[in-house]
Amino acid sequence: MQYDVVIGLEVHAELKTQTKCFCSCKNTYGDLPNSNCCPVCMGLPGALPVLNKFAVEQTVRAGLALGFEINKQALFERKNYFYPDLAKAYQISQLEKPICINGHLKVFDKEIPINRIHLEEDAGKLVHKDNVSLVDYNRAGVPLIELVTDALKQPHIESADEAIEFLTKLRQIYIYAGVADCIVEKGQMRADVNVSLKPKGSSEFGTKVEMKNIMGFKAVHRAITYEIQRQKEILDEGGVIEQETRKWDNDKGESYTLRTKENSEDYRYFPDPDLLMVNIDQKDIDRIKDSMPILPAQLKEKFMNEYGLSEYDSDVLLADKEVCDFFIACLEDYFKPKTVANWVITEVLARQKLEGKILVSKENLVWIIKAVDDKKVQRLAAKDLLSDIWGTTLSAEEQARKKDILADLSTDFVLEVIEKVVKEKSGVVEQFKREKDPKILNFLVGQVMKETRGKANAQAVLQKLTDMLK
Ligand code: ADP
Ligand code: MG
Ligand code: ZN
Repeated sequence: MQYDVVIGLEVHAELKTQTKCFCSCKNTYGDLPNSNCCPVCMGLPGALPVLNKFAVEQTVRAGLALGFEINKQALFERKNYFYPDLAKAYQISQLEKPICINGHLKVFDKEIPINRIHLEEDAGKLVHKDNVSLVDYNRAGVPLIELVTDALKQPHIESADEAIEFLTKLRQIYIYAGVADCIVEKGQMRADVNVSLKPKGSSEFGTKVEMKNIMGFKAVHRAITYEIQRQKEILDEGGVIEQETRKWDNDKGESYTLRTKENSEDYRYFPDPDLLMVNIDQKDIDRIKDSMPILPAQLKEKFMNEYGLSEYDSDVLLADKEVCDFFIACLEDYFKPKTVANWVITEVLARQKLEGKILVSKENLVWIIKAVDDKKVQRLAAKDLLSDIWGTTLSAEEQARKKDILADLSTDFVLEVIEKVVKEKSGVVEQFKREKDPKILNFLVGQVMKETRGKANAQAVLQKLTDMLK
């Protein structure tokens, strides 16, 4: 049987803030376990939470970047459950009045509807070692935004590819808006997926299955693909899908039942009596809107329409903000968008991917690009030059002088070399005169370039040789 796939995403992202959501502990990653904790985020009795205003502002910023309406009044509620990483045995979250409602995100020409973004606190981290489990509360209380797509509205996310595109775009927007770093390996962005199948064309939705514990976008793709197949097999055999939450095991490439039946009532949500209703002024919303950094979609338009870049090149540059910022910075010094884009994409990006960081200054790269444009350095020599100075404090110009690769434009010198090569390779020259094979001519050009150590202009050498051997 043929099925329609319906996918809902619940995406968590840790906000970029100095401090945690309800206390003044540092919001950092990688510190000594339990070194950024206090009575509030450890859940000690009597400790009172104080809302971090900037976390609210970041949530509003995320919402505005995705076209959400902002609720003027937002409420914090307690979501009660017991787990060792949750010291208070409840999580401060939002159910009834989230900060952002009704947003959307364009994915492959489909505007995917999004229900909400709410602000909540992250839980601690469990570390399993041999036979014991340890808990690190540094992450407890870190501000987290949860975005929930509206899978029951058209258009749906219908495939693993679309889900990945959604997450990739979302991550990009959060990063460019400055609300979150979204380093997936650090768990700063995590997605739960909901999948259901229905007979093709049917208007009635199938039973959804939620999958948790999915680390990384590749795993999201695998988990969705696996779940679609699992449900297909059950339905094809006339079985029924049970509503449940499954845990994805990425090592085994399969999922297993975590719990069946679970809904918001199980969490006995109620307004947190320690926190006031949050009032969000239009004035503040406007201020946040006005200070919104330029977002990927706007930049893409600029790259394509103003700079004349292809859609592909624009996407490649935008995919990594460090690369994109670097590209824009280089343009400030040398406004040749296509040339600079080419260098950044072919030379800088590959090295950055390898080393995790751009290790050349814009001044040095621009010097190299200009030198090639001005025919002062041959392209191949320039690429070697970039390798030489990458990750060092060397200046491109000094290094070029040291390597003696700066073009010697004095024609006398080049002419001398051409004459020398013609004399030395007289056999080859005779052969060319007989056969007129351009390959032979190219060989001779190569010899000249070699003799001049790349300092001559190959085009000019070719011209000169052609004239001489006529
Ligand atoms: P729960 O309370 O179980 O977490 P929610 O209503 O919060 O369920 O929905 C979680 C996600 O699942 C949302 O993205 C929602 O749009 C999506 N969803 C709801 N019903 C379905 C369905 N039948 N198929 C796929 N996704 C669904
Ligand atoms: Mg949910
Ligand atoms: Zn604290």
